[in-house]
Amino acid sequence: MKYARAPGSLTGAMNRLCRWGALLLLAGWLPVQAAERLEVVTTTGMLTDAVREVGGDQVSVRGMMGSGVDPHSYRQTRSDIVAMTRADLVIWHGLYLEAQMEHFLERLARRQTVVAVAESLPRERLLAHEDYDDKFDPHVWMDPELWAEVVLHVRDALIQARPSSEQAFRDNAVAYRRDLEALSAYARRVAATVPVESRILLTAHDAFGYFGRAYDVEVVGIQGISTESETGLRRVRDMVDLLVEREVGAVFVETSVSDRNIRALVEGAGSRGHEVRVAGELYSDAMGEPGNYEGTYIGMIDHNLTTIVRALGGEAPARGMQGRLSAREGASDSSE
Ligand code: ZN
Repeated sequence: MKYARAPGSLTGAMNRLCRWGALLLLAGWLPVQAAERLEVVTTTGMLTDAVREVGGDQVSVRGMMGSGVDPHSYRQTRSDIVAMTRADLVIWHGLYLEAQMEHFLERLARRQTVVAVAESLPRERLLAHEDYDDKFDPHVWMDPELWAEVVLHVRDALIQARPSSEQAFRDNAVAYRRDLEALSAYARRVAATVPVESRILLTAHDAFGYFGRAYDVEVVGIQGISTESETGLRRVRDMVDLLVEREVGAVFVETSVSDRNIRALVEGAGSRGHEVRVAGELYSDAMGEPGNYEGTYIGMIDHNLTTIVRALGGEAPARGMQGRLSAREGASDSSE
């Protein structure tokens, strides 16, 4: 009896094991698939987009800063910290852009793969930081040619973290850089149509230095390179003088910065009999809403360019480089 029962019980155990195995396999299937993707956490939206483009279906990316978020003042949240410590790779910008996160990221780098991709740009291609002798202007995404260099560093960081996907990352980077080249060519073409005497771009903070250098436009920010600096009344008065003397007709607000100073300027100029209009909203340090064309890097730059060029008297299609910009006030043909 004892002997006779044994095979039965063994079969039963085997069956149970198989059932459990099948269940475990089923339950485990999704996490296993997800785990095959390289988990990347990024700071700015522009970097999130670059990782998405270069990483393709090999990566899953979590961006910490959404649309309208100011990277100069952003601090990591509790859930950011959890995500960063669990990720395979953390990519941040560097050049003192994420000023409030820098200490945290440097400490994290001791035990985690953390790469500041803009830090690898050659120093001779960077603009000086007006507030610090030993720092540079971090807003390099404003020149698509410079951003295409950063994309290479994003690619290399991904390859380092996942060498087996090297070919895919290289192919994706080549394709994306081709799109960036097209953007750059469009930018040069439309920027050249702005009359020389109107080439002055006045914005809330100094985010457009590289834009100005690339397209020969003088840029003036009410606030400095970081939004953390205070703006005195004196600065606003000087800016009003500039608007009146140079007969500047258009100024711009930014999606990630308060428009208080810009409104003060417009009022100040108005009280001296010089009418200035707010010619649109620019994406300085954050992209548009996710899911929109403006929520991609290329859409963001296309929007800025198109808005600026048209407001300063140049010629650009109302819906931008690819006809994909949303129709809105200031972007429609009939508005100005
Ligand atoms: Zn900025």
